[in-house]
Amino acid sequence: MDFTLSKEQRDIIRAARKFAEGEFADRALEFDQEDRFDLDLWRASCDMGFVGIFIDEAYGGAGMGFLEHCLITEEFWAVDPGIGQAVLSASFGAEILLLFGTEAQKQEILPRVVSGKAMIGTAITEPDAGSDVTSARTLARADGSQWVINGTKMFITNGTVADYILLFCQTDPDNPSRHKRYSFILVPTDTPGYGAKKLARKMGIRASDTAEVTLTDVRVPKANLVGNPGEGFYELMAFFNRTRPQVAAQGVGLARAAMAESIRHAKERHQFGVPLASFQITQFKIAEMATLIRAARNLYYEAVWTVDQGKPDHALIAMAKWYAGKIATQCADEAVQLHGGYGFIEEQKVNRLYRAAKVLEIYEGAKEVEKMIIARSLLD
Ligand SMILES: Cc1cc2nc3c(=O)[nH]c(=O)nc-3n(C[C@H](O)[C@H](O)[C@H](O)COP(=O)(O)OP(=O)(O)OC[C@H]3O[C@@H](n4cnc5c(N)ncnc54)[C@H](O)[C@@H]3O)c2cc1C
Repeated sequence: MDFTLSKEQRDIIRAARKFAEGEFADRALEFDQEDRFDLDLWRASCDMGFVGIFIDEAYGGAGMGFLEHCLITEEFWAVDPGIGQAVLSASFGAEILLLFGTEAQKQEILPRVVSGKAMIGTAITEPDAGSDVTSARTLARADGSQWVINGTKMFITNGTVADYILLFCQTDPDNPSRHKRYSFILVPTDTPGYGAKKLARKMGIRASDTAEVTLTDVRVPKANLVGNPGEGFYELMAFFNRTRPQVAAQGVGLARAAMAESIRHAKERHQFGVPLASFQITQFKIAEMATLIRAARNLYYEAVWTVDQGKPDHALIAMAKWYAGKIATQCADEAVQLHGGYGFIEEQKVNRLYRAAKVLEIYEGAKEVEKMIIARSLLD
């Protein structure tokens, strides 16, 4: 298998790195400390063509693959996970619209997502329904030509800043199969009854908006149904196949940053009269990081390649997501260790990386869920 990137892909990487280093690096600490979501930075990322690069040209995108989206993700996260997440998750849900939306829905929303005129989010998790998505209780009841929606969603990325939320909810609550009760419905966030409360002081990625969302008698047209009624669970799995390689790319970017900070510090910091880098144990740590990063990257390249070939390999994608989260937390931990007491201080980049890494083992399928998927593919 040839993993050589094309010149165009290498140019995308270079452009993403230059943009992130120029625009994110100096603001990352401030945004983290202030829980600040920056609309200007999001729009600037859209102007540069980084948001929704996988969206078809017919809808204003570049018509590239999910690999290119992952390449940008890796570069952004290598500079700052919080800002990287904030700007790139502006298209979180475009995958669902591309796969299952009507032509009218795609035409209405996707060009605005690409150009920085609208932001979207996807709401699945509820206070009592996380890993087990089929226990979600948010209900959309048909009433004439409308859906009337009630429920609460938890930890929703972009909940307070999005223009639209793709809502995973029950539309057929009496269906005997739990898997056939759900659909996606598009909810404009300016609809009366939509409420969002920001969850501040997260452990990490604080520049990204996360909210508790409430829906109280929210009325939207029946035409806002996305995809096939009752097929929402299966559509969600198809969505995760597109987004989980992106999380793996986030982990590789973060681990790269941890290694770069470790190398810099190990060369600068002297103890016992020599730089830390001269101790073999330090060298071994760096060697391990480099190897883990390479392995995780190859895994996500292969996983996202199956997506771009139109044949997503569910188990391989789960492996890539789980493994990148694991090595990102490991590399961030070693990076803090190498920084000693300095790593324990909030101002240090490695401190921010350490706090951010944990989310990779939680969102979009906790690591246990990923292992369940992998095991099922081997044992069923
Ligand atoms: C910053 C952030 C952003 C997020 N953004 C979004 C978003 O935009 N949209 C959205 O819908 N959700 C979002 N989430 C929610 C996220 O996807 C969930 O937190 C995640 O799916 C886990 O669900 P939970 O928190 O309810 O944990 P639970 O499901 O309660 O799990 C708790 C623990 O139990 C383990 N566990 C659960 N079931 C099993 C089992 N059968 N076997 C073994 N172990 C098990 C889990 O692996 C986990 O370790 C976000 C979360 C965070 C932190």
